[in-house]
Amino acid sequence: MQALSFNDLKGKVCVITGGAGVLGTAMVKAIASVGTKIAIADINKETADKVAAEIAAESGAEVIGVAANVLDKESLEAAKAEINKKLGPIDILINGAGGNSPQATTKVETMTEENMDKLEDTFYGLEMEGFDKVFALNFKGTLLPTMVFTRDMLTNKKGVVLNVSSMNSYKPLTKIPAYSAAKASINNFTEWLSVHLAKVGIRVNAVAPGFFITNQNRFLVVDEKTGNYSPRGQKIVDNTPMGKFGEPEDLQGTTLFLISDISNFITGIVIPVDGGYSAFGGV
Ligand code: NAD
Repeated sequence: MQALSFNDLKGKVCVITGGAGVLGTAMVKAIASVGTKIAIADINKETADKVAAEIAAESGAEVIGVAANVLDKESLEAAKAEINKKLGPIDILINGAGGNSPQATTKVETMTEENMDKLEDTFYGLEMEGFDKVFALNFKGTLLPTMVFTRDMLTNKKGVVLNVSSMNSYKPLTKIPAYSAAKASINNFTEWLSVHLAKVGIRVNAVAPGFFITNQNRFLVVDEKTGNYSPRGQKIVDNTPMGKFGEPEDLQGTTLFLISDISNFITGIVIPVDGGYSAFGGV
């Protein structure tokens, strides 16, 4: 009997949006380690090139950086043409670009009698511009790349999409309503698209990372002055049964599992990688 492996991924072509980010880089490292060709499609081309060069040198895999804005179809189509020319038809798409912004974050967690006269710090003070930006980056920024980058999979009648969700998709965290709503929409869209594409050989799943300290959330979970956890950061650790934040490498196994043929009969699911956070009722 042959040992199970991720050998089916060798030589395939994977595109990862936002692949130059903290979690994306860890995913790219895992995928490169099994010999998949990777295009890091990121709005920050300079970092994408740098990450690609480093991982290519380290792993021996073919990894390239490509400029792409997940909110702009033309830019995605240009990126696809470049990827097809340099690496070949696309087999796997990871929708990694996403994140929150201070402009879509309320200052207070909940309204109380003490703070209710400072409406600007609450839900009522949210600027639509910031809200729209965060919602679009996380939802439309998954929808559009999926429309563009899965076209070769249709031709091959085989392919995989992996979306990146969040703990906010199950139960919203305070302060970040746009991000929470957008990530909930990712779970819903993952199910919807998995059904829509099931008979043409394309599987669609998602991973829901728990809490990892990265650029987008550092301002919320670490106290800038002391470098210690903020009260919110401490609350997260206290509500994570494993008692810690995750390391980006913790996402690697789930990523390989969901993009390889090992999970051939799995579509339309969201796997939490969260140290038990989503299983814990808080008491
Ligand atoms: P990050 O900010 O380190 O990386 C995001 C990457 O996306 C960056 O390289 C950025 O240049 C790129 N990007 C931003 N806008 C883009 C656009 N319009 N087009 C193309 N690329 C764009 O973030 P991260 O923490 O690595 O997060 C990656 C994903 O994981 C996001 O979807 C995020 O919502 C999700 N997530 C993160 C956490 C966490 O704890 N960090 C938890 C759950 C889910």
